[in-house]
Amino acid sequence: MSPLSPSDAKPSTPFTVGLTGGIGSGKTTVADLFAERGVAVVDTDLIAHQLTAPNGIAIAAIRAEFGDAFIDTGGAMDRKKMREYVFSDPLAKQRLEAILHPLIGTETARAIAQANGHYVMPVIPLLVESGKWQQRFTRILVIDCDEQTQIQRVMQRNAMNETQVRAIMAAQATRQQRLEAADDVIVNNAGVDALAPQIERLHAFYMSLAACH
Ligand code: ATP
Repeated sequence: MSPLSPSDAKPSTPFTVGLTGGIGSGKTTVADLFAERGVAVVDTDLIAHQLTAPNGIAIAAIRAEFGDAFIDTGGAMDRKKMREYVFSDPLAKQRLEAILHPLIGTETARAIAQANGHYVMPVIPLLVESGKWQQRFTRILVIDCDEQTQIQRVMQRNAMNETQVRAIMAAQATRQQRLEAADDVIVNNAGVDALAPQIERLHAFYMSLAACH
């Protein structure tokens, strides 16, 4: 996924904790644990996916830009075909992103504004890479994971080899860049049980900040 473009997103007024981390660092695992505690999680991967699902709001623009051949019979973007096309043509990738990124920005801003919970936690995989989202959130929470653990987990989950996982990681921000952008860090090197105390501590902290936000 490419960096989001929030240029036309409204500034968020609720107390927001932007959650990010490298591929397979544990963003979803951690976000689910915050959701269990009444936090409104906004999943930007899901938002991006819905844009190009049947009747998604990006479909008309994609049809106009790329033609009927890229829309399947069910009315969704033909992901496989588009993936192959943009892989072979960087300009096509830019054209697709010019459609999708502003829509992801506005839809994410809308979801944040409508969210119900103690506070809002948008999950943005490429938050640090985008550069623009950082000042829009009250706190930035980074899920940190040592590279070897990260690689092992992604290899296991996605049936990829180490070279493939490293290629994805090389296209993302470094661990150091993410840590520099972080207000708060959750370390996810050990088992899932090691997450609960860290989440309890941060959730209590965020609740106290949200109360006077
Ligand atoms: P992606 O960037 O691909 O969306 P992610 O950052 O959301 O990934 P998860 O999907 O939460 O990461 O975790 C990646 C994989 O590692 C999953 O299979 C998950 O079950 C596993 N995992 C996450 N945290 C732990 C942990 N502490 N112990 C063991 N397995 C874990």
